[in-house]
Amino acid sequence: MIERRPSRQLHVGDVAVGGGAPISVQSMCTTKTADVDGTLAQVYALKGAGADIVRITCNDVEAAQGLAEMMPRMPVPIIADIHYQYRLALAAMEAGVQGLRLNPGNIRNEEHIKTVAREARDRKLPIRVGVNAGSLDKELLAKYEAPVPEALVESALKEIRYLEEVDFFDIKISVKHSNVPTMVECYRLLAERVSYPLHLGVTEAGPLPGGLIKSVAGISTLLLEGIGDTIRFSLTADPVEEAKAGRQLLEYLGLRERKGLDLIACPSCGRAEVDVIKVANEAQHALEAEGLAIQVAVMGCVVNGPGEAREADLGIAAGRGRGHLFVKGQVVRVVPEAQMVEALVEEARRLVEEGVEARLAAADKDAAAIAEAARDELLQIQGDANRVEIKRRAVAETARGEG
Ligand code: SF4
Repeated sequence: MIERRPSRQLHVGDVAVGGGAPISVQSMCTTKTADVDGTLAQVYALKGAGADIVRITCNDVEAAQGLAEMMPRMPVPIIADIHYQYRLALAAMEAGVQGLRLNPGNIRNEEHIKTVAREARDRKLPIRVGVNAGSLDKELLAKYEAPVPEALVESALKEIRYLEEVDFFDIKISVKHSNVPTMVECYRLLAERVSYPLHLGVTEAGPLPGGLIKSVAGISTLLLEGIGDTIRFSLTADPVEEAKAGRQLLEYLGLRERKGLDLIACPSCGRAEVDVIKVANEAQHALEAEGLAIQVAVMGCVVNGPGEAREADLGIAAGRGRGHLFVKGQVVRVVPEAQMVEALVEEARRLVEEGVEARLAAADKDAAAIAEAARDELLQIQGDANRVEIKRRAVAETARGEG
């Protein structure tokens, strides 16, 4: 159980952030905001992939007008991303967005920041102070000579002071860096200094798979320390991948309830009785299409498969030309190898509908015995990889001429 850092709570529309609320997933549209239909379609796709909150740039008057047109049809709360022009923050609020992101690196006039904060305060809208290593306040860059954690945190604290001076406290903060260890340090430092909720991300993480790995490394490290209230993967990829990755990460860390499929599969080895990569990919594709929140295992052999994947709700293990379907580690049905994926999907549907007990009760009586026979047969042919000590002794005896 991860003990989370206590933080103030705020709301982005109907999504609570901080104060023990579920960690939310954010992503950002890549469409032109003036393209109302295109942006709406992307927001719906992001919601479908797991985004709780979506950020959209408000970079000119046409973008603000686009926001005004699309806000009534938005399926999730929207945050307007503001750089340089504080008036666009005012326009975005007028358009009906549920929150703002300000970059202290490029809106530096104190009075402009306070004007925006007063308006947000009166409208009860939150603001994210989003510091980025790449666009750090020039004065701080000159002072520290590099975007070091102290510089990013000082930038955030300076901005927060302006907001607090006009009694604005619905603040969340990000201090993003593209270097993973530095990003982690930035947030650790910030977490000691403020009680506001924190938005985690590795900025400019890049394309897949490197961007995904950097984001997972940085965000997970902090989440496991209890730091972080909302997350975004900044990938150079379709933003749907960002939302999906964010959601999956939270599910895998046990920080959000499973909403979709969790497919586990063995890495395959010389014992595999089937092309595990092919079967696992086909199973993933078919099961994702079903939209079932279930953990499914695809295992390459019946020798170790059912036992190793006994925690999974459902699984299938190959052996002697057949697929051995198992529920919670108990073999319930044996099907021809060519029908493995089809049988897995059918069983997954029934398992979700009827429950584990019912499916165990409906097991084919001879399935477990068939699986056991296949297992014994394979052990005869391949040997028992798990009885290493016996083998070591036998090898030693042979070497010594005792065998
Ligand atoms: S389940 Fe079987 S095939 Fe897969 S890695 Fe384990 S021993 Fe190898």
